[in-house]
Amino acid sequence: MPIPLAAGPEIVAIPGPSVVPARVLSAMHRAMPDIYDGELLSVTDEVFDALPGLAGTANRGFVTISNGHGAWEMALSNTLSRGDLVLVLNCGLFAAVWGEMASFNGARVELVNAELGRANDPAQLEQRLRADPHHQIKAVLTVHVDTSSSVRNDIPAIRAAIDAADHPALLMVDCIATMGCERFLMDEWGVDLALAASQKGLMTPPGLGFVWPGARALEAHQHADMRTRYWDWTARTEHGPHYLRYCGTPPITHLFAIREALRMIAEEGLEPRWARHRVLADAIRAAVDAWSAPGGLSLHVAEPSERANSVTTVRTGEVDALELARICTELMGVTLGIGVREFDGRSFRIGHMGHVNAPMVMGVLGAIEAALSSMGVAIGGSGVAAAAASLAAELAKT
Ligand SMILES: *Cc1c(COP(=O)(O)O)cnc(C)c1O
Repeated sequence: MPIPLAAGPEIVAIPGPSVVPARVLSAMHRAMPDIYDGELLSVTDEVFDALPGLAGTANRGFVTISNGHGAWEMALSNTLSRGDLVLVLNCGLFAAVWGEMASFNGARVELVNAELGRANDPAQLEQRLRADPHHQIKAVLTVHVDTSSSVRNDIPAIRAAIDAADHPALLMVDCIATMGCERFLMDEWGVDLALAASQKGLMTPPGLGFVWPGARALEAHQHADMRTRYWDWTARTEHGPHYLRYCGTPPITHLFAIREALRMIAEEGLEPRWARHRVLADAIRAAVDAWSAPGGLSLHVAEPSERANSVTTVRTGEVDALELARICTELMGVTLGIGVREFDGRSFRIGHMGHVNAPMVMGVLGAIEAALSSMGVAIGGSGVAAAAASLAAELAKT
């Protein structure tokens, strides 16, 4: 029997919930304050003041006490009416599930699936919108990055397709897997609504959602009939008692947490943060490419420009991904994300979003390589060496 090597800090390398920094955890550890006066009000102000910059917008954001699904519901219920036609651009799993929610809530949903391992095709979108001269389609729902496939959509290209068709549909983008990790510029890119959640790149436990409506989404809100009292934007006004913004008691502990996380993001800076995610993702991709072998491992996303910088899906071919994950977890203390849908048991995912640095990534890659070798898997070459070389190329820059 092998000697277990897992004691010590556990590394959970799943694509969310991601690692919560000690600073954020410490910020949460406090007695309950007054919710009508005092420090909590300034925490709310600081959080709400930071949200626009995070999403690259001049629009105010809303905070939900929920996971990402709650942010989805806030987005839909505030902008749509029953019977509205909604186009869902899916490149994995999550946009489709958001579309199912829209359908449940009374919208008519048309799903457009990307080719396997590819981003959604803007030309296909443009064509579909051109075939809608009476503007039945009220919204286009999509994800920035799909966390199951690790495909990244080209949001500016999707916007350009909508503009080329001269179509008024709202562009609503799920940035749950990318906010704070990947370049996202809501206003510059012409996004009408963006949303995120606390537990992916934002380094905070699950429990908060964020929704940024642009001017056109706020206009749609005026005549939306899916509105419900709890999620309603108009009711969540900043004029009046503080608790109205949360439609009830604020998520106090989480507010202290996200304030600390947003401070950390500000200290690092968004541009350096996006760059860090890209460099670490490049190292992971270099490793997988080096491991690649016929019948063995490969990157799920074929097109380099469509690869996410916050999560990587690795196909394992004939290699048993569950056994690989078991060895990593039980013997080495690294938990990998399991594959979903068509690659269940034949893929795994590495989450690299938020509070992640080079030694964490190198540690995860080293554990995977050791596990592969222990299984007798034929690999093309050392992924760890390739990842180190990839990082070295960055470090050598002057
Ligand atoms: C995680 C995730 C979701 C779902 O978020 P929950 O907090 O589990 O509701 C939705 N979309 C994307 C892109 C995600 O990564």
